[in-house]
Amino acid sequence: MKPEVLVRRLVHKMGFRFRLHRRDLPGTPDLVFPKLHKVIFVHGCFWHQHANCRRSNIPKTREDYWLPKLTRNVKRDRKSRMQLSKNDWKSLVIWECEIKNPVKLEAKIRKFLT
Ligand SMILES: [Zn+2]
Repeated sequence: MKPEVLVRRLVHKMGFRFRLHRRDLPGTPDLVFPKLHKVIFVHGCFWHQHANCRRSNIPKTREDYWLPKLTRNVKRDRKSRMQLSKNDWKSLVIWECEIKNPVKLEAKIRKFLT
């Protein structure tokens, strides 16, 4: 199952209600909590270059190909989060690798949303 779907199910089970992919918000966040003015992004470790994560390793042989693409993604993410924060939206990033520990993940989400 896609990481984003798992997070959605978990958050729903926790009793929070949200909207999906609001395109009018910077970065089109995966989960949007309009009343709380908070958003959650679910990021793949490779595509969004999770710092110090094994899954974010770029294959050395194809570095020329990947590096510009991935750098662009990281810059775009940073810009989106800055724009959100300027407009008083709080944002949280959940990394794909965090999903394998549901207890910790749930605690992280609860802390962010309450
Ligand atoms: Zn990761």
